[in-house]
Amino acid sequence: MDISIIIPLYNEADSLSELCSWINDVMKKNNYSYEILLIDDGSKDSSWKKIENLSKSNSQIKGIKFRRNYGKSAALNVGFSKANGSVVITMDADLQDSPEEIPELYKKIKNENFDLVSGWKEKRFDPITKTIPTKLFNWAVRKTSGIKLNDFNCGLKAYKSSVVKSIEVHGEMHRYIPVLAKWAGFSKITEQIVKHQPRKYGKTKFGVERFINGFLDLLTVTFVTRFAKKPMHFFGILGLIMFFLGFILFTFISGNKLYCIMNDEPATNIAEMSGFYIALTAMIIGVQLFLAGFIAEMISRNNYDRNNYQIEQEI
Ligand code: UDP
Ligand code: MG
Repeated sequence: MDISIIIPLYNEADSLSELCSWINDVMKKNNYSYEILLIDDGSKDSSWKKIENLSKSNSQIKGIKFRRNYGKSAALNVGFSKANGSVVITMDADLQDSPEEIPELYKKIKNENFDLVSGWKEKRFDPITKTIPTKLFNWAVRKTSGIKLNDFNCGLKAYKSSVVKSIEVHGEMHRYIPVLAKWAGFSKITEQIVKHQPRKYGKTKFGVERFINGFLDLLTVTFVTRFAKKPMHFFGILGLIMFFLGFILFTFISGNKLYCIMNDEPATNIAEMSGFYIALTAMIIGVQLFLAGFIAEMISRNNYDRNNYQIEQEI
C-alpha cells in the first residue's frame, strides 16, 4: 500500500464527509493505493456515526473509536501502530489542512528519500493570540533540538513507515514528533510550505494552556532524550560542582579560623559569617543532586526498554 492517512479527530462531525471525499478525489487522481484511518478520540457528537457510514460506503476508510478522550498524541500513536502504507500522512480533521498537498509530500518521501516532511503553514489563518506565541515556541524548539523547522506542530506531515513504527507519541508529545524522530535516528527531516485555511466547522480543541504545557513538554523532551539513559551525567556534574564550591569555601573559612586560633589572633565566630551558610547549603544541595542522580540511575536500570535499540540492518 502506498499511503496511510491518519486523522485524529475530536468532535469534528461536520467536516468528516467533506474531508474524506476530498482525500478520495486526490488519491484517485494520482492512482495511489491508500487507506484513511479515522481515529475518533472519544468524540461526544455524531462523529462516530459519520465514520461508520463513511466506512460502509468506502472500504478504504477505517475507523477506530476511543472509549474516552485521550488526546491527539494518543490518537496519533494508535494510528501509527495500525498504519499499513509505506508512506504515512497525518492531517487534522478540521479542513485546515489541504489534501491537495499529499502528492507533493509523498514524492518528497519516495523520490527524495526523506524520513519526515513537515508542513509549514507559512501564511496562517489563526487568531493573533495564537500566531505570536507559536513563533516563540518554534524558535525555542529550533534552538533546543537543532532541527531547522519553521513549524514544528503542523498537523500535516509525511513519514516513512519505519519512522512511525519506531517512535512513541504519548502525553502531549505530538508537538515534538520531529524531535522524537531525530532522537530515534531519523535525521533526514525537511519541510514543505502548505496551504492553510481558517477552521470551517467547530472550534479549536486547544486553549492558551497549550503554550505553558508545550513549554513544560519541551523541557521534558530535551531532558529525557538527552539524559534518560544516563541521568548521572546530568545530576552528577551539577552535584559535584555544588559540593566542591561549598567544600572549598568551607575549607577556606575553617582554615582561616584555625590559623587565627593558633596565632592567638582575634577571629570572628564562624556561625556569624554568611559565607559559612552559603558553603553549608551548597554542600547539602550538592549531595542531594548526587543522590538524585544515583536514584535516577537505578530507576533507569530497571526501565524495560533500557536496551531497546533500533537496528536498521543486519547481514
Ligand atoms: N484532536 C484530537 N483530540 C483532542 C484534541 C484535538 O484528536 O483531544 C484533533 C482535532 O479534532 C483536530 C486536530 O486534533 O483534528 C487538531 O486540533 P485543532 O484543530 O483543535 O487544533 P488547532 O488547529 O487549533 O491547533
Ligand atoms: Mg485546527
